[in-house]
Amino acid sequence: MGNFSHYIKGIRNGEVFFDEQFKFSFILHEVGLLHLLFSVLFYIMGNRVLGIYNVCVFLGYLSIDYLIKFKKFRLSLIIACTEVMLHSFLTTVTVGINTGFSFYCFSMVPCVFYMILTWNVFKRKEITSILYTSAFALALIGNCMISFFVEPKTPAPFGWAIAFSSLNAVMSVVAMAEFLIMLDWDVMHKSEKMQSLNDELGEKANIDPLTKLYNRRFMDQKLEEKLTELSKEGNIFGIIMADIDDFKKVNDTYGHDFGDRILVEVAAALKKSTRDDDFVCRWGGEEFLIIINGNKSITKDVAERMRTAVSEIGVPFGNDIIKVTMTFGVTESITGFSVDKLVSVADDNLYKGKQNGKNQVVG
Ligand code: GH3
Ligand code: MG
Ligand code: MG
Repeated sequence: MGNFSHYIKGIRNGEVFFDEQFKFSFILHEVGLLHLLFSVLFYIMGNRVLGIYNVCVFLGYLSIDYLIKFKKFRLSLIIACTEVMLHSFLTTVTVGINTGFSFYCFSMVPCVFYMILTWNVFKRKEITSILYTSAFALALIGNCMISFFVEPKTPAPFGWAIAFSSLNAVMSVVAMAEFLIMLDWDVMHKSEKMQSLNDELGEKANIDPLTKLYNRRFMDQKLEEKLTELSKEGNIFGIIMADIDDFKKVNDTYGHDFGDRILVEVAAALKKSTRDDDFVCRWGGEEFLIIINGNKSITKDVAERMRTAVSEIGVPFGNDIIKVTMTFGVTESITGFSVDKLVSVADDNLYKGKQNGKNQVVG
């Protein structure tokens, strides 16, 4: 039972989805079975013609289901709608309009609108739905006119007329409710899909596609946040500006693709050297900016750990193992500084490291 309610919940919030083929097939089976019930009732009532007719309709619906398998949605809908209209006329002239079979001409309108407008299988949706609606409206008027001018051939006895009209009223309401539920499922499914697409997009906007680290856009925002936190709550943080040494040479010697492989390895080594509350970003090219949740001494320790980790990377190229080094400029957050000013302090330290022979931490 628990599983079942979980499943229903899944359908309701759009995780479980039924496609048009499944829904159409379900509806046709349902309508087919309803006709089987009509045939039994007509037979008991003593109207063999309508009994046999309804058995044929039941078999007909099963064969339309075969058309659905080949995605003949339009033809199937035309046949099903024509059948509903024909059946209403036939019952009006034989057993009388008071048996309520023309109710379906009314309840079919929202159903057809739902199928045509929301399913991606019908073209020229607006005009098609208006045509179907007009056909049902005309059928309804036609039924009223016929009942006014033509006496039913074998009128249903009063009790049977009440029973049929009640059954048809209930089934018409059930049909409309079913389509509204399906519409609700579709809306839920679509909003669930849009939510996950939105999340994906939001994530992509902040992530560097090559290294999968945060990008500069994200880091600019994060640094703004961190500086606000610093001025409001005094939360000190450190930043590291890191740059691969002589990377141009790597590219020139082994090619750009190999350079990209190095960037990926370096990014992984930097990330591995940090904690979950630190932020590592690809600032641009072969430069990385890292926010460390700690003071200058902690930040310098992390930078040293990173320097060692990067120097231990070895990427094979043919028979060789290619190694790289990195220089790090470190600073602690300074109250009142803008993002640019703070980054430039780390950048200056990085520049000093480069001037001083590279592969070192300065701060
Ligand atoms: P330094 O030690 O002074 O930093 O020297 P460097 O050669 O690393 O510095 P330079 O700024 O002269 O060169 C950086 C190189 O990084 C040049 C550019 O081709 C390369 N680069 C930048 N972005 C990418 C990238 O996405 N992929 C690859 N493969 N190379 C990149
Ligand atoms: Mg460099
Ligand atoms: Mg550089």
